Amino acid sequence: MEGSVASDQTVPVFLGRDFPELREAVQRVCARFPGEYWRSCDERSVYPKEFVDALTEAGFLAALIPEEYGGSGLPLRAACVILEEINASGCNAGAAHAQMYIMGTLLRHGSEEQKRRYLPRIARGELRLQAFGVTEPTTGSDTTQLKTRAERRGDRYVITGQKVWTSRALHSDLMLLLARTTPADAVRRRTEGLSTFIVDIKANLGKGLEIRPLKAMINHNATEVFMDGLEVPAENLIGEEGQGFRYILDGMNAERTLIAAEAVGDGRWLLNKAVAYASERRVFGRPIGQNQGVQFPLARAYASLEAADMMVRRAAALFDAGRECGADANMAKHIAAEAAWEAAEAAMQTHGGFGFAREYDVERKWRECRLYQIAPISTNMVLAYIAQHVLGLPRSY
Ligand SMILES: Cc1cc2nc3c(=O)[nH]c(=O)nc-3n(C[C@H](O)[C@H](O)[C@H](O)COP(=O)(O)OP(=O)(O)OC[C@H]3O[C@@H](n4cnc5c(N)ncnc54)[C@H](O)[C@@H]3O)c2cc1C
Repeated sequence: MEGSVASDQTVPVFLGRDFPELREAVQRVCARFPGEYWRSCDERSVYPKEFVDALTEAGFLAALIPEEYGGSGLPLRAACVILEEINASGCNAGAAHAQMYIMGTLLRHGSEEQKRRYLPRIARGELRLQAFGVTEPTTGSDTTQLKTRAERRGDRYVITGQKVWTSRALHSDLMLLLARTTPADAVRRRTEGLSTFIVDIKANLGKGLEIRPLKAMINHNATEVFMDGLEVPAENLIGEEGQGFRYILDGMNAERTLIAAEAVGDGRWLLNKAVAYASERRVFGRPIGQNQGVQFPLARAYASLEAADMMVRRAAALFDAGRECGADANMAKHIAAEAAWEAAEAAMQTHGGFGFAREYDVERKWRECRLYQIAPISTNMVLAYIAQHVLGLPRSY
């Protein structure tokens, strides 16, 4: 059994308000983007460019890029704090979070030349690498069976296929793409035969690459990506051909932990909002928060959020110590997704009819919180991981 924190692992986990100065710096930037800003972007399905620019200028999105490539080389826990504070301030980290973690594949598996070419420019905010093309319409969660094909022809790869739900592709310069380089029936293991590429979106739009916005429940700037004879220079292959799935998996622990921190932030914002409303709103001659029927869901959500926060800290501490953290990252993501949703439901119910009024922002956060149980990975897939890799039960799919 893989377990989570094995008894021989002594990894310190900070319990208090860690990185206080970083938290305050994030809050200062977020204060410039109040609810009206987000409602306006949401209603028009517009990308929150000004907000993303402000995060980039402040250097937050380069937190995980090592100093030698122009970033601040902070630990994963600091990046978690940034995303948590963004969402706890009522803003939406989903507009830019991928800029933090997608580059991890490049950092860990790219050549020195690739790292020098992209990372400093990403750190300076000149290049956006925040589109991640993995999910396909026909294969969904069954990633190893994806159909997009990349064929080597001389010094380039020619790519044909389709991706769906690729967030921010129209607001990114580069996309990290997972495509099949060896047919599925010609590989020894189903995790082989897939490769990762850096695709220059801007240079290829209209030349074998078409991107269409996908209307969705939340303003996540999701798109459908169509590739038909898209040519990518062979030098844009990351690492070894055929090993791309492993590289993507490598980055998942960081991604899961960061998303979990974001969910905790959303939960905190919703809970604060609900507690304030429960104290102010008077019905039947007393604050609604005096009723246990209103108090208890809020108290329960608070307890769940604290548990999720601890799990995020543990996953990040293990990651930062270079320890195995697959189980912890998955559990953090799962618990945080549920805790955020619990807080969203409690906040919605506490606000009564006003929960539906756009100006309270509760319905917006409520919609945004629902995503965590589906993307970047759905609950069942996380539970299947825990069942198989932690509990030792037979593989179910
Ligand atoms: C707003 C949004 C943004 C997204 N952004 C991106 C992005 O930037 N890049 C990207 O690549 N993808 C992105 N996604 C896609 C997301 O990762 C997928 O939607 C998600 O992984 C689930 O895949 P699917 O939608 O194909 O569901 P399916 O795989 O069709 O699954 C449907 C349901 O069946 C369940 N299920 C399937 N198989 C099993 C099984 N064996 N056992 C138990 N349950 C099972 C799933 O858990 C799920 O609940 C985004 C999605 C959304 C909604």
